[in-house]
Amino acid sequence: MSANPLLDFSDLPRFDLIAPEHVQPAIADLLAEARNLITLLTADNTPATWADFAQPLTDGIERLSRAWGVVGHLHSVNDIPPWREAYNGMLPEVTRFYSELGQNLALFAKYKAIRSGTEYAMLNPAQKKIIDNEVRDFRLSGAELPEDQKPRFQAIQEEQAALAAKFSENLLDATNAFAEVVADEARLAGLPEDVKAAAREAAEKAGVAGWRFNLHAPSYGPVMQYADDRELRARMYRAYATRAAEFDEHGSKPEWNNTPLIRRILELREEEAKMLGYANFAEVSLVAKMADSPAQVLDFLRDLAVKAKPFAERDIAELRAFAKEELNLDPLQPWDAAYASEKLLQARYAFSEQEVKQYFTEPKVLAGLFRVIETLFNVRVTPDSAPVWHDDVRFFRIETPAGVLVGQFYLDLYAREEKRGGAWMDDARGRRRLADGVQTPVAYLNCNFARPVGNKPATFTHDEVITLFHETGHGLHHMLTRVDELGVSGINGVEWDAVELPSQFMENFCWEWDVLQGMTAHVDTGAPLPRALFDKMTSAKNFQSGLQTVRQLEFSLFDMRLHCEFDLNGKQTPLDLLNEVRQEVAVLIPPPWQRFPNSFSHIFAGGYSAGYFSYKWAEVLSADAYAAFEEAGDPFDATVGKRFLDEILSVGGSRPALESFRAFRGREPSVDALLRHSGMIEA
Ligand code: ZN
Repeated sequence: MSANPLLDFSDLPRFDLIAPEHVQPAIADLLAEARNLITLLTADNTPATWADFAQPLTDGIERLSRAWGVVGHLHSVNDIPPWREAYNGMLPEVTRFYSELGQNLALFAKYKAIRSGTEYAMLNPAQKKIIDNEVRDFRLSGAELPEDQKPRFQAIQEEQAALAAKFSENLLDATNAFAEVVADEARLAGLPEDVKAAAREAAEKAGVAGWRFNLHAPSYGPVMQYADDRELRARMYRAYATRAAEFDEHGSKPEWNNTPLIRRILELREEEAKMLGYANFAEVSLVAKMADSPAQVLDFLRDLAVKAKPFAERDIAELRAFAKEELNLDPLQPWDAAYASEKLLQARYAFSEQEVKQYFTEPKVLAGLFRVIETLFNVRVTPDSAPVWHDDVRFFRIETPAGVLVGQFYLDLYAREEKRGGAWMDDARGRRRLADGVQTPVAYLNCNFARPVGNKPATFTHDEVITLFHETGHGLHHMLTRVDELGVSGINGVEWDAVELPSQFMENFCWEWDVLQGMTAHVDTGAPLPRALFDKMTSAKNFQSGLQTVRQLEFSLFDMRLHCEFDLNGKQTPLDLLNEVRQEVAVLIPPPWQRFPNSFSHIFAGGYSAGYFSYKWAEVLSADAYAAFEEAGDPFDATVGKRFLDEILSVGGSRPALESFRAFRGREPSVDALLRHSGMIEA
């Protein structure tokens, strides 16, 4: 019998040995093992203690999640048919296992017994937090309801899931039903060649002459941004803004109207909240988030709105004047905004991305990144070796100055055909203390940059450098943790609206002149990035930041108010509420027939209900955290770096994120740093 390498947990994953045929037997074994363990641990005679219940349960499930993590990772970075088949073959069973785990009332009973038992007071803070999180999550899934209410609660969940699916389907059907065929090439003036070619191809496919445009982002976006033909933009805007609404036009059908679905979704969320003992659904949404209360979130959003709105007004005034004088667009209509903005950006703030790219060579960028990490967090980053899944992949270790291993990471920088798009961090293994010592954390950092050509090093755009820093931030959160309990070490158990703090924090260094100087060398001449080019990059970064901010605030306020103060029995419709919000924060009011709520999938069909604010929330936190370095006058200030490591990175999910933030900053979060970084501060 040859051993299955997926079941080898002695050290790093055996990427040199693991093959698709190992997946089914290994995962089936681990699932059976985990199920047996749960049966054993939930038996009446098993004591509900940390050592007899929580600890062995963590051990058992960790084996499954580590092995499945490797499979999922290979599916992402090497999505060839055998791996796809192996992954999809076991996905339903693994999904079922985890969903049963969350519904297992016998497990809930054990956790509750620990929570109310005498041992709880003696547990360390991380262990307590894990028990609290478990009890909280079971409660939120209705585990504590009286037996006679559970079927109703279950029915609410199922109806909500069905409504969310229908909401997306309606939107997709309405999006797909529209096509704008342009017969005259003169009407395509301004559009990039690749967009025209795609439209040409789409027309051929549909068997029509000319160019065919649709409402999906790769077609709709460029038309709104580049097409000189105002009438074309207006027609497409109208179709886009009325998708899944009551109108019978542009191919959209009234049976795809999402308005009744929105009402029903809100009713069900309200009922769910009341059953769980909360005043409204926003409170439910915030239980597991960093923000404390709907009122706190509303205050936060309004505070930012008051400060951002004057800049948004300035942005819109500048845009209107430019559109009138230079483009003869007066008055500026909503379908002119993206077009005129693009022209304004080119006229005032343009620089060549390609020119900038010549300065960011891979060795310089990595050295610059490692220098930031080493200086701030007093560690060493050095090359290491391990079995990998592709020749592109490099492996590094992070050590203390005394040579103690802290963590390791794989770096897979380049795009490949069989690799999933985008950039992401994932964990191969989390930190925990075991009987024989510490299990150090291991991370995967994945990007999709272009590989080097010829014998020159790879060069990255500034956006790509920012992406690399961002994902490294997630990686540091995972690897620099000092927490000994797996359930809250690294990013485990970190509140959803706080997870992006370390990642967005790291992005700030990419806008720091002192950092960039040392991190750039022209691929041919070796010269560092010129200051004038850097200044242009900074101006372009802040282009229309006021407008963009109030737009995000409009969505966030609408979402939060809809879930905490909207009266389902009142006269106001969700659209009325949105209009009220716009009166408060927006500077560009769309036409009355616009039906934005009907396509707001984030909150009606995604995970962002009463959570859309998290985008801005995380930006504020990361900017404010970074401002501590600005106040110290040095992006490499080691004292502030140590405090960030001690109070935020290393504590992971072992305490509430707001407590960590306060411990680092010595005060509540403030929006000032974000405003300053975005150029929204009065000179
Ligand atoms: Zn992120």
